[in-house]
Amino acid sequence: MSKIKSSNIGYPRIGENREWKRTLENFWSGVISETELFEKTTEIRLRNLKKQQEKGIDLIPVNDFSLYDHVLDTAVTFGIVPKRFNYTGGKVDKHTYFAIARGTGGTVASEMTKWFNTNYHYIVPELDDVTPSLVENRALTFYQEAKEKLDIDGKPVLLGPVTFVKLAKGYDEQEFSTIVETFVPLYVQVLQELVEAGASWIQIDEPILVTQLSKEEIAVVEKVYQAFAKHVPRAKVILQTYFEKITAYEKIVNLPVKAIGIDFVHGDSLELLKTYGFPKGKVLVAGIIDGRNVWRANLAEKRTLMEEIRQLVHHDQLIIQPSCSLLHVPVTKTLEQKLDNVIYDGLSFADEKLDEAVTLAKGLNHGMVSVQDDLNQANEAIKQLIETYQSNDEVRKKVAHLTTDDAQRSIPFAERIEKQKRRLQLPLLPTTTIGSLPQTPEVKRTRTKWRKGEITDHAYEQFVKKQMKRWITIQEELDIDVLVHGEFERNDMVEYFGEKMNGFTVTEFGWVQSYGSRCVKPPLIFGDVSWDKPITVKESAYAQSLTERPVKGMLTGPVTILNWSFVHDAAPRYEIMKQIALGLQKEIESLEAKGITIIQVDEPALREGLPLNRAKWEEYLKQSSLVFRLATATASPETQIHTHMCYSNFEDVFDCIDDLDADVISIETSRSHGEIVSIFEENTYQKEIGLGVYDIHSPRIPSVYEIKQNMNRALQTISPNQFWINPDCGLKTRKEDETIDALKVMVQAAKEMRNKQ
Ligand code: GLN
Ligand code: ZN
Repeated sequence: MSKIKSSNIGYPRIGENREWKRTLENFWSGVISETELFEKTTEIRLRNLKKQQEKGIDLIPVNDFSLYDHVLDTAVTFGIVPKRFNYTGGKVDKHTYFAIARGTGGTVASEMTKWFNTNYHYIVPELDDVTPSLVENRALTFYQEAKEKLDIDGKPVLLGPVTFVKLAKGYDEQEFSTIVETFVPLYVQVLQELVEAGASWIQIDEPILVTQLSKEEIAVVEKVYQAFAKHVPRAKVILQTYFEKITAYEKIVNLPVKAIGIDFVHGDSLELLKTYGFPKGKVLVAGIIDGRNVWRANLAEKRTLMEEIRQLVHHDQLIIQPSCSLLHVPVTKTLEQKLDNVIYDGLSFADEKLDEAVTLAKGLNHGMVSVQDDLNQANEAIKQLIETYQSNDEVRKKVAHLTTDDAQRSIPFAERIEKQKRRLQLPLLPTTTIGSLPQTPEVKRTRTKWRKGEITDHAYEQFVKKQMKRWITIQEELDIDVLVHGEFERNDMVEYFGEKMNGFTVTEFGWVQSYGSRCVKPPLIFGDVSWDKPITVKESAYAQSLTERPVKGMLTGPVTILNWSFVHDAAPRYEIMKQIALGLQKEIESLEAKGITIIQVDEPALREGLPLNRAKWEEYLKQSSLVFRLATATASPETQIHTHMCYSNFEDVFDCIDDLDADVISIETSRSHGEIVSIFEENTYQKEIGLGVYDIHSPRIPSVYEIKQNMNRALQTISPNQFWINPDCGLKTRKEDETIDALKVMVQAAKEMRNKQ
């Protein structure tokens, strides 16, 4: 009997100590050469592979590593470079590659948006005016590298053509099928070369198959995979899906591929399997270890799940793996020194998840007794974790007694805004920023020193105050109307709140890639959430004391706090969201008591949290707007509530956004090159709004002309009385001089526009 194999879909790129991030940033700032970039990242990549090899993973992914993003990698594989980068063909060089991702001198970067329901951002391919051709078989390069250097018969990972084209822009819907078809021969060539090089398995990711596709689109999928089977019959393709159950299950599992990868953690795939079966002779790659969470797997339960699957799919047709790429979880828990033992034991990051997959495979192959110790340990760790769950009866009671009135401000927007206008006396087209100001190396260094205990709390506080003071002056000199305190005291917009509310735990090294080199460190929620002391008041009140202009209080909203944390299954998600909202309510009241007149409650993760399964949308959106309203309900009508969201794909949540009842919303738009404005042509939106007028993800300084153009486009549909002028998002990742120069341009543009109104 051949054995059940273990596999991995993708491994984190960032390295145990985020060495990948530092390498990239050093290259961008000219500290290291392209050769060093190559050497260092090769080292990281090989180390990642070696680890998986040592763990005993049978199918190790290659070509999952990236210098920025795997969607961009796919685009450059096919020579897809937007015209403005003056690409003349051939292998895309590193400078062009990073320029597409980040923009350069005179050229805007490609749009960046969130990858399905995750906080990972991909670069949106622009298919207009390009003729794809295979300019570089990256998968082959990495397959050969793994083979030569480590004797690994890697499993090349490709982003499938259907998902790739679906995520791209620059074509009309009717052209979809034709465009996908142009990629087929190119993929065929990639597959052919991989087969010739000896690749045993090839993973083709088509996560789009878990979303709602039309009949025509499914027909395209069928055509593509039939073509692959016909032209490269020797390729053993794993058609890989993740994040939800497959929508057109029966059709998809019957495609002529050797194996189907299914997520058994998110969505009820087991139900589908039981109802519709699984084709004989095909391999099922079962994603059973949660790749989206950091908690230890209950191996006994996973084993039961595997046993159920085994009744429907023959033993030797099974492979075990995490539910999705481990890109979405931190690398290893072994570096954590400060965690409570019970929490530590209850965790499982990427490396530990791979161990879990290997253990399960071993148990299933050699009898569970062979891994009984591991099973017992996991069981004990989980039991202990559940036992230490901190429930808070008081908060639970409050949540249980909430009524819809509790989530309603005292008077409607139309009346509130009049009061706010009277109080704030802002000019037409008021200018503001989104919250964070540059986190310079000095800011980060000082925080690290403070965390290590090398400087006192007092010294750190003084340092933060000094930054705030400097920047209040800079903002006044720039003549910005609504100021921010700069968020210098914050490492991260979610972790900061996590550290200060009950129910959260933070890690030291639990970093996850968000976009490009930027990583985030989501806190862990393990316990009921409650608030017992002000979180942001000291800084906001200090900043406000320095100026006559309003300084925005700056909070992270309940939906985002939840979506950007790793929440344990024992914590009821929607309940926890309400608990967070009740905490924020108190925070808002405390800010108001200190004279803060504008409070921004950021919800950048609201859209991304939208379930992939449409059947679950209504509930999610209802709950999301409810908790936002709950958090802001007790604010005085004169307090102006702002919210901020960073995504451009926003049609799906338009109604929900209105439902938040925020007085002002700012939305990221510049990277979607103005497309968002069209949504306002079709919908009437009464509240105030700022559509980001320049892209903060790029180091490039916009021109007054460009910003005015962005404003003009928006002002064709939105009244100037409603419109705010702000950058796309927070400025923490930008350098100080870049920020000041860009804001100067922004304010100048706003003034010129005001004069024209
Ligand atoms: N206030 C936050 C900041 O400016 C918002 C960040 C975000 O939207 N992701 O950094
Ligand atoms: Zn943002």
